[in-house]
Amino acid sequence: MAAAATPGDRKKKLRVFFLPFFARGHLIPQTDLACRLAAARPSDVESTIVVTPANASLIEPTVSRATASGRAAVHILPYPFPDVGLGPGIECLGAAPARDEWRVYRAADLAQPAHEAVLRAHRPDAVVADVPFWWTTDVAAELGIPRLTFHPVGAFPQLAMNNLFAVRADIVGRPRGRQLVAVPGMPGGKEKKEVAIPASELPDFLVRDDHLSALWGRLKAAQLAGFGVVVNTFADLERAYCDEYRRVDARRAYFVGPISQPSLSAVGRGGDGDADCLHWLSTKPSRSVVYVCFGSWAHFSAAQMTELALGLEASNQTFLWVVRCSSDEEDSDDADVPDEAWERRVAGRGVVVRGWAPQLAVLAHPSVGAFLTHCGWNSVLEAASAGVPVLTWPLVFEQFINERLVTEVAAFGARVWEDGEGVRSVRREEADTVPAEAVARAVAGFMERGGRREKAEVKVKELAERARTAVEEDGSSWRDMHRLIDDLMQARASGPKMA
Ligand code: UDP
Repeated sequence: MAAAATPGDRKKKLRVFFLPFFARGHLIPQTDLACRLAAARPSDVESTIVVTPANASLIEPTVSRATASGRAAVHILPYPFPDVGLGPGIECLGAAPARDEWRVYRAADLAQPAHEAVLRAHRPDAVVADVPFWWTTDVAAELGIPRLTFHPVGAFPQLAMNNLFAVRADIVGRPRGRQLVAVPGMPGGKEKKEVAIPASELPDFLVRDDHLSALWGRLKAAQLAGFGVVVNTFADLERAYCDEYRRVDARRAYFVGPISQPSLSAVGRGGDGDADCLHWLSTKPSRSVVYVCFGSWAHFSAAQMTELALGLEASNQTFLWVVRCSSDEEDSDDADVPDEAWERRVAGRGVVVRGWAPQLAVLAHPSVGAFLTHCGWNSVLEAASAGVPVLTWPLVFEQFINERLVTEVAAFGARVWEDGEGVRSVRREEADTVPAEAVARAVAGFMERGGRREKAEVKVKELAERARTAVEEDGSSWRDMHRLIDDLMQARASGPKMA
């Protein structure tokens, strides 16, 4: 039985440290989590985000906003980015050129001594660390504190990857192409769907030996040995999968999403953002604009960029397209696309944001009527929370699995390119280029009156309402957030054994 908390424990704030991986898709939700946890119970919790210097500058605006009111205590604690041969200030996926991405993963491996030193020196009451940082479970055990794993992707893709990994021996070595691989062991109930995925759409670690396939067992063991898992999802989005996940994949699971809330004022998060595009959106009719964005690091070939540009032009729809700019000339195979002549042709109905858009604010804008996305989990969740129907164009890693949640299970979107239209693959060199005609047909067809958007819209509006109630007082995510704080307070009061 847990020992009673001493008066000293009750007065002292719970000091929770957060260690995000080096990618915006991880940094953003973990920073938002740190801020929300501190704001949920300001007199009980103080958050510290442990990051490298360039990543600190990405999260600083969010932290400043959260602390400005004086209601939340959130600190940033920098540590040096490991020397892996990247240029100054390049410390995350997306900032590094594609050919150097491996260096970012290498830096994650090399961060172990710095993480251990920080935790030993500061002795927080709990640590929430990203999936790759498996060693934090060991150092937390040594210090007698809880280690939670932060998962930036939801229960459905996690279960699918776990279950596929269990049958990996049957997948590796089979012909990669379009042959369907059934995902075993997905839960039943109302949401039961047989999930089968062509081998070409499975993440690399499931079909061949790589760094992650070698590490997977260790990451899982650290997750299961830890205190629990915090997942950026909400129960009503994927209830059967959350229940199953709670049963098999964590000692304690907390579903606290959507961590990042759609808000018209959410500018400056994860990057500078171009707030001008919000003024432009305000000149457009309600639900008329297609927002096009492929996240923070995935790359397109120059040929694909050209087809996409021509397709958007030919769709005759109004659109806002975020084109990421590479930091490195040699890497920027897509730097000159779209060109000025194209921009003149679409002027008035098409706007390009080069760099970073304030995505949460864009999705919350009433003029946005659809989101053409790569199905990064944050984007999927943000679309669901904002009530914006989705057109899916997955590119890498688990995005093809997320797509199935969007189009088949929760049914708030449609694919840009169906099976049979061409080869879709997580490996860019294997994938067919999606032609402009297919892009135009998919976008225009989705947006037309009576098109597939209308059905998706009914579903996504329902989901948005459920996402809103999930984070409101007594909603499922609100309760999980408070249960997390209570459990951590209890662990501290009980002493090292609970960790
Ligand atoms: N994002 C943004 N502006 C951009 C591009 C991305 O604010 O121009 C945010 C987006 O809202 C999401 C995150 O960056 O929170 C991207 O995460 P996601 O999981 O969707 O994709 P990833 O970048 O990890 O592939």
